[in-house]
Amino acid sequence: MTDEIVDLTNCDREPIHIPSLIQPHGILLVLQDPTLEILQVSSNTQKVIGRQPEELLGKSLSDLLNAKQINLIQQCLAEDFESINPLNLSIKHLNKSIYFDGIIHSLDNIIILELEPRKAKDSTGFFNFYQQVRGIITRIQKAPTMLEMCQIVVTEVRRITGFDRVMVYRFDREGAGRVIAEDTNQETPYLDLHYPPSDIPKQARQLYTLNWLRLIPDASYQPVTLIPANNPLTNQPLDLSLSVLRSVSGIHLEYLQNMGVTASMSISLMHEQKLWGLIACHHSSPKYISYNIRTMCEFIGQVMSVELANKEASEDIDYKRQLKSLQTQFVEGLSQAECFLDGMVQLKSQLLNLTSATGAVICSGDQYIEAGKTPSEDEVHALLDWIKPQLHHNLFETRSLTKDYPAGESFKAIASGVLALEISRVHHNYILWFRPEIIQTVNWGGNPNKPVEVLSEGNFRISPRKSFELWQETVQGYALPWKPCEVEAVAELRSLVVGVVLRQADKLAAMNFELQRSNEELDSFAYVASHDLKEPLRGIHNYANFLMEDYADVLDNDGVAKLQTLVRLTQRMEDLINSLLHFSRLGRAELIRQPVNLNELVQQVISTLSIARPQSEVEFRIPQPLKSIQCDRAQINELFTNLISNAIKYNDKPNKWVEIGFIEENGQRKVAPTSMTFYVRDNGIGIPEEHLDKIFQIFRRLHGRDDFGGGTGVGLTIARKIVERHGGKIWVESNQTQGSTFYFTLSVEPNT
Ligand code: ADP
Repeated sequence: MTDEIVDLTNCDREPIHIPSLIQPHGILLVLQDPTLEILQVSSNTQKVIGRQPEELLGKSLSDLLNAKQINLIQQCLAEDFESINPLNLSIKHLNKSIYFDGIIHSLDNIIILELEPRKAKDSTGFFNFYQQVRGIITRIQKAPTMLEMCQIVVTEVRRITGFDRVMVYRFDREGAGRVIAEDTNQETPYLDLHYPPSDIPKQARQLYTLNWLRLIPDASYQPVTLIPANNPLTNQPLDLSLSVLRSVSGIHLEYLQNMGVTASMSISLMHEQKLWGLIACHHSSPKYISYNIRTMCEFIGQVMSVELANKEASEDIDYKRQLKSLQTQFVEGLSQAECFLDGMVQLKSQLLNLTSATGAVICSGDQYIEAGKTPSEDEVHALLDWIKPQLHHNLFETRSLTKDYPAGESFKAIASGVLALEISRVHHNYILWFRPEIIQTVNWGGNPNKPVEVLSEGNFRISPRKSFELWQETVQGYALPWKPCEVEAVAELRSLVVGVVLRQADKLAAMNFELQRSNEELDSFAYVASHDLKEPLRGIHNYANFLMEDYADVLDNDGVAKLQTLVRLTQRMEDLINSLLHFSRLGRAELIRQPVNLNELVQQVISTLSIARPQSEVEFRIPQPLKSIQCDRAQINELFTNLISNAIKYNDKPNKWVEIGFIEENGQRKVAPTSMTFYVRDNGIGIPEEHLDKIFQIFRRLHGRDDFGGGTGVGLTIARKIVERHGGKIWVESNQTQGSTFYFTLSVEPNT
């Protein structure tokens, strides 16, 4: 046992629902269902009703109670016990009647009857009960805020019960509790004190949700055993989860004693099926509260539990209204925006107001837009990578980032609170909100870090801390919590933005479809036109030649020259038509993507061009070998051929050079590049700025027909078509004295 690590999780393991012990302020009888034979009794029967336990075991309950009472119990067996308890019972002892509140519940094949002695013959009737609680309920319902409601409850419960101190104790998400309302006659207030989660072990919380009220009239009681110790039907300890007399854990009793509490009562406050808090009552001397008064308090707790939802909803009502109006602004702003990011940029200040954040970042692809105070782009990126696997329903929130993310230490001053929203994982669309660290002083009831204080040497025992002196702790690394209404507003924002993104995607898809259709039409028109034009053109060409051959001697020189021009023009027209045909075929041909070693391909292009133009002395520079990518080999070959041949052609420098390369990512962008930028650079004649766009148009040349070796003006149009069919872009930068650089991007992803 000494090797065991000691903390209060040991308490979490204590099986407190089967202690086989009860408190001594009543007796417990276990009865067989339906015969009512007594199977098990508490060992204090002699003291309470003057009968030895052994005398009762095996007997019928009718030995103790008269026929009328037995009848009453039998009737209840068919009904809901909760509406019947307490039963008004009495047992004759030495010619005197002892009156009891009988509290009954059933369990598997047994019935558990607990008898709590009561002074007077008459218990408080329903009418009395109603009179007492009616006014309280109305006041609870009318309380304008949660805190005011809590204050009404503590005052009323203390008035009804007479405890020294009544508190409302609220749990936070981590299970730590805080006293939010108090009514007391004691000197030291507990209001605003915090208690660590270990003060109430897990399985005690579980019992609190089953059993809404627990009473310990005297924490210094001697527990009473059951005879026999185990349930004789199962030979297992009796499950006392629903018993009102169940003996509580020794650790808990010690805890109460250390706090100076002798009598204690607690009532569960439930919200959305979870334990929201407790109404905790303390008394410095023993104090018994009758079952009827307890029921009244329990009822107050239930009404308060129901009202919690209403009060929470009406809390921050103005703020919620403001959030709604912000959302309307988002709807309007985003519905007009061309794209999500543009829309958001216009709504930066609303974005901050939506969550009362001091900073926000919108991420879309590798674009980042900041508002207010935010960590650096790199920090946000790393943070986002950490957040992504933890998103739950597209959301992540924390008010103390550094607790789980130590890297957040460097920016905790501006981002201890983080709220993240995923809009689209595929398109990498996220919004993050940040809140600064608020350094707070928390008043603990005792040192929260030392919940265990006593370890008696060797054979130790867990003992709750002894000191409940105010213990102040400065809490760092925490931001103000995100309110549920803020988180909700963010979740709603997501559906709005997703709507816009989807609308845009639909619009784009429709446009793409239309574009593709018209492109296809154009391609087939160009193909048919150029194909059909070729035949009559060939006829004109042939007939012009026949004329020259057969009638040259009839014509004068001028006539012959005109015929020669006609032949040349038909030839040029044929060149143009062939180019157009080739261009239209490019659009119709299927891309055959395969891994292509661009380095080899460029070397091949260079040697082919060098053979074709042996007279031009050109230095080819390749600063670093090009990589392999997935592409259509023939088309990319044509692309490099067109660009490199232009680079050679449009060059009048004595020392011509052409450089072919690609641009290295400089490592700033965190998203792996999906495309690569290549370039073909020359020290040629350059291109005037006003023509930079025009040169990609079909048949567009900037020079005389035969200057610079002539051409049809289709080369760059084809280059652009090839790049675009590969999903890239092409553009040119030029300086008329230094030459031109043609850039193009090609996708490097294997399956695009
Ligand atoms: P072509 O070379 O058949 O005229 P292109 O479409 O290849 O047709 O080029 C269009 C025009 O762009 C060329 O006529 C030329 O004026 C200009 N051009 C293309 N490449 C270069 C270059 N590297 N340097 C300067 N001008 C160029």
